[in-house]
Amino acid sequence: MRKQEEVLTNIIKGEAQATLSDFNYITWFDPIEITEINGEEITIAHHNPFAKKQFEQRFHGNLREILMSNGFSNPTINYTLKKKSRPVKGAPEKATEAAAPVAEVVQRPKAISGDGLNSKYQFKNFIVGNCNDLAYNTAIAISKGPGRRYNPLFIYGGVGLGKTHLIQAIGNEAREKLGVKVRYLTAEDFVNDFLDHIRNKKSGFEKRYRSVDILIVDDIQFIAGKTSTQEAFFNTFNALHQQNKQIILSSDRPPTNIPTLTDRLRSRFSMGVSIDISLPDLETRCAIIESKANELGQNISREVVEFMAENIKTNIRELEGIINKLIAYVEMKGIEPTIDVVQIIIDNIKPAANKHFTPRQIIIKTAEFFNIKPDDITSPSHKNSLERQISMYLIRSELRLSFPEIARVINRKDHTTVMYGVKKIEKGIKLDTKLNEQITSIREVLYV
Ligand code: ADP
Ligand code: MG
Repeated sequence: MRKQEEVLTNIIKGEAQATLSDFNYITWFDPIEITEINGEEITIAHHNPFAKKQFEQRFHGNLREILMSNGFSNPTINYTLKKKSRPVKGAPEKATEAAAPVAEVVQRPKAISGDGLNSKYQFKNFIVGNCNDLAYNTAIAISKGPGRRYNPLFIYGGVGLGKTHLIQAIGNEAREKLGVKVRYLTAEDFVNDFLDHIRNKKSGFEKRYRSVDILIVDDIQFIAGKTSTQEAFFNTFNALHQQNKQIILSSDRPPTNIPTLTDRLRSRFSMGVSIDISLPDLETRCAIIESKANELGQNISREVVEFMAENIKTNIRELEGIINKLIAYVEMKGIEPTIDVVQIIIDNIKPAANKHFTPRQIIIKTAEFFNIKPDDITSPSHKNSLERQISMYLIRSELRLSFPEIARVINRKDHTTVMYGVKKIEKGIKLDTKLNEQITSIREVLYV
């Protein structure tokens, strides 16, 4: 039997995983740890002061709700920092590498260190079914002979279907079996590293990416619309490809559907092989449930496994969240995982986070963030122009409305005003960290 604190940590994470957006779950909930439970008082530890403050300000309500749906009536939450803080900067390469399994989570979305691989993602714990067998077999082939065929490998598919798991597994396997040099990073990391290199005239950028045998870039769609980063990536890509070094990319859509990707980059991405991962079928869902339960040391009867697989048809990340929650729940209560218990868990999970919002909601959230009224943004006055431009920018970037459509929503006659505003913010976020942070915060609120 595990400690109560650990069980509660798992319950909270399971529920957050199933109900919050991916971004919010990974960034804010995944790294937390409950360090003490004392009646209605719980203590939660964060890995750094920034995460602690952000969590406290933004997710206190979510956490209370989760606690209250799990037997607490009026919980008090204390926020603290984790005791042992991990060396991040200036640590010798070896030490960082050894720390990789936890580091991925702990350091997100911070700078890159080590090779970015997380040892929890392996081929042996990747369940293969109709939805992913082609991707899996190609991944295995690449791990045995990187840079030969299938270069680049482009894996695409919806959220939570195993893209990161699979491309990380290639890196882990090749590093271990072939001893090759691998670097894994998200496209967001690449963009940040590139901007950092430009802004601070830091050297080593090119070498960092060109000296590897396998370069893995996750969620490459993120570089859409970022012209200078695309250029830098194009050059990196060519340099590696010419030397028969393996490039592996993942995206939420195929190269042809990534908007504002330069044609030459799109054609590079399509040079090797593009394979999609789709939603798992019933049989694969059963296998995943069994495997995850085994990992957690619980046996679930076949009948219960099938019941879960029939009732949870969403992606694998959500499935995993519900399994974690179920197991934590039965361990805490000391009961068996029966169909009735599963039913309670499923009924308790709130509908998945609403990822669809309207232009009006963007205006409302932007206004809330800056403490003004939504009408201030849509009024004909010239006041609050920054807030207005941020709204226009977000409507454009998140909902891809046309400039005339945005002009209508924002109550402007001339759509060139909108074009100007959007361009201004696009430029601004590259240079102005504060603006960039403000926009990131509003975007997160939209996706909660
Ligand atoms: P994506 O990158 O496509 O959003 P992830 O790779 O992050 O998805 O997968 C979400 C979660 O589901 C991870 O914890 C991962 O380990 C797990 N997962 C995904 N696919 C599989 C699979 N085929 N077998 C086992 N676990 C999987
Ligand atoms: Mg991913």
